[in-house]
Amino acid sequence: MHKVLLAVSMVLITATLGCTATPSTKTAEASAPVAAAASEPVPDAPLKPQHIDSRRTMQYVKEIVAFGRRAPGSPGMAKQQAYIRAKLKGDNLEEDTFKATTPDGQFQLTNFIDKFPGTTNDVIVICGHYDTLYAQKDFVGANDGGSSAALLLELADQFRGKNRTGPAVWLVWFDGEEAFQKWTDTDSTYGSRHLAAKWQQDGTSKRIKALLLVDMIGDSDLNIDHDANSTAWLSDLVYQAAGNLSHKAYFYGRNTAIDDDHIPFLHAGVPCVDIIDLDYGYNNVYWHTAQDTVDKLSANSFQVVGDVVLETVRLLSNRAHQ
Ligand SMILES: [Zn+2]
Repeated sequence: MHKVLLAVSMVLITATLGCTATPSTKTAEASAPVAAAASEPVPDAPLKPQHIDSRRTMQYVKEIVAFGRRAPGSPGMAKQQAYIRAKLKGDNLEEDTFKATTPDGQFQLTNFIDKFPGTTNDVIVICGHYDTLYAQKDFVGANDGGSSAALLLELADQFRGKNRTGPAVWLVWFDGEEAFQKWTDTDSTYGSRHLAAKWQQDGTSKRIKALLLVDMIGDSDLNIDHDANSTAWLSDLVYQAAGNLSHKAYFYGRNTAIDDDHIPFLHAGVPCVDIIDLDYGYNNVYWHTAQDTVDKLSANSFQVVGDVVLETVRLLSNRAHQ
């Protein structure tokens, strides 16, 4: 991803946090259990917050990083794709394979889409990228590429076999998020641009109630940015979910505007939030360097982000019945 601008403005931060603490948010928090206990049974979303297995997530990221560099066309990427297929075997898995024209020539890229049914036509998309930097040969991307790929595998474990009602949940692993040379509108986010265009053309984008993007969420020093490009009500809902789990301290201490895989979907009219920590090491020194290794990550960070994502899905699912 790319930071469009960094506006560390106390005014903005205050305004943002002030907004999320409005009485209407509190009303929504209070009304969720009431709705669940109403005379009409709501057997859909879980009544209580759910938790991921963060140790297993750490194991996934270690196994993924062990493949080495995972740029498009690399042996590590082929191994990772075989690994993802094996982990998702038996699921309703779609492979969205396409040719991308890049400054380094044509590449065959693949987005994975793992679909878990609900009972309505609505869809919640949870997504992240699984490619790593192309140009940098010594880059293994434990956090940048690895953490999102691993958390999505863990989320698949959470949704698999569950009898959910409410919106369907689709997990998407994007290929080709990274620029081949230098980040521009045309040299970046190949997978998400391809899928957003496809879903806009076939009408799927209208069914998507919310898209939750995770990126660089494994940093042991976790501080999720408030992305000014994201949809305000959905950013607020993520913050409400964090509050329900007493995780607010990890969220929105900094206001930024991030160019990432959510942008093509925002352009297609889909509500999106980018859950990203773009402050990796002191002054972001590990970002896009050979220092992006597994020892910089922690199970606790996966726990926080994974649980907040599940809680956001629960809040979205409850909303569908109000
Ligand atoms: Zn990156």
